[in-house]
Amino acid sequence: MRVMKYLYNLQSLSMKSLKLICCILLCMSVFNVSNAQKIFFITADRLFDGTEMHSKWGVLTDGPKIIKVGPKDQIDIPSNATVINYGDATITPGLIEGHSHLLLYPYNITDWDTQVLKETDSYRTARATVHAKNTLLAGFTTARDLGTEGAGYSDVAIKRAINEGIIIGPRLMVAGRAIVSTGSYGPKGYDHDQEIMLGAEPADGNDLIRVVRDQIGKGADFIKIYADYRWGVNGEDRPSFTLDELKLINEVTRSSGRVMVCHAKSKEAIRRAVLAGAETIEHGDFIDVELGKLMKEHNVTYIPTVAAVDVISQYRGWKKGVMDPPANVLNKRKSFKEAIASGVSIGMGGDVGVYPHGENVLEMELMVEYGMQPFDVLKAATSVNSRAFHLDDRLGFLKPGYISDVVVVAGDPSKNISAIRNVQFVMKEGVIYKQVK
Ligand SMILES: [Zn+2]
Repeated sequence: MRVMKYLYNLQSLSMKSLKLICCILLCMSVFNVSNAQKIFFITADRLFDGTEMHSKWGVLTDGPKIIKVGPKDQIDIPSNATVINYGDATITPGLIEGHSHLLLYPYNITDWDTQVLKETDSYRTARATVHAKNTLLAGFTTARDLGTEGAGYSDVAIKRAINEGIIIGPRLMVAGRAIVSTGSYGPKGYDHDQEIMLGAEPADGNDLIRVVRDQIGKGADFIKIYADYRWGVNGEDRPSFTLDELKLINEVTRSSGRVMVCHAKSKEAIRRAVLAGAETIEHGDFIDVELGKLMKEHNVTYIPTVAAVDVISQYRGWKKGVMDPPANVLNKRKSFKEAIASGVSIGMGGDVGVYPHGENVLEMELMVEYGMQPFDVLKAATSVNSRAFHLDDRLGFLKPGYISDVVVVAGDPSKNISAIRNVQFVMKEGVIYKQVK
């Protein structure tokens, strides 16, 4: 752990300390390797395996793989295993954040336009390395990042640095720049003579083929499309791409073995995105029972981002608990309940970045507040997300043969979801990044 503390302080070191940095990096790789080769037996009063809660179970890990999961008194513990016992705590699979923006930070600190237009990619990337660290230490060992919002392919670079052990963070699936239709996306409201850099890459018609291929070439793990946006002077969410355009994007994306995911709030954009082959619908502010059923039929997962709406409303002056909720919050609560009633698969993703990285649990708390059972929210952030993102053969569950991403939180999150705020232990691929006791 001492090595990691040095690592966090890297940015305070001068260039003259290059030798020291090299030494630290060397130490870190040694740290990772030696740690990863260790066998751990972790127990607690409860173990959530991604599907069910078990009493007095344990998980045995050997480096990057889980060896055994079961009642703790029925597992043979190898003599060279390090045993870590937690009491009133819950072991869970590493949590999966379904919708992050590591290149953004809360808009009440710096508004979105300023982050996109005035901050350099290098400054934003430096900040993002801290966001990645905070995400991991909050128990989120995997994250799907939904676009750099004007920071090019910095997400691809951050993912690489994490994979190479240069910085710490969750394993990432990244979108890169994301795609918007001409005229729809921000920053907006500037003199039309100005060429304003946008928060995503505009493309239309047949040009979409070239742009999808280019984004894949530059490192996009999936293609993120804004199927609608607050478009035109009235600021309403309107479908931006035609059904045929979305189908074309999906065809080109699929042929590369990747998937298309869609930001879609309006009913028509959700419908088009689903029919065109989107795998997840982001936000879905106007989802209803009928659309939820359509999504279910097409095996599409809903990523609600309830926290984004809630928090942005507060940034705009809503005093939660004191004032009546504004219309968009009331609408979000209503549509979230309709989504639950429809039976559509609901994953967890909060648009974190709008609120602080490391506070990812806020989305889970609000999902409960908006009407979902804590146990279902726990599944959303583990097994449901792993299935939605095609990771369910290796992540999102505690099962033998799966990657040893193991988190321990104090208390019982299936009763009180805020227990996830109290992270005791974080292991990613056999390496311990946090251990409170
Ligand atoms: Zn987003």
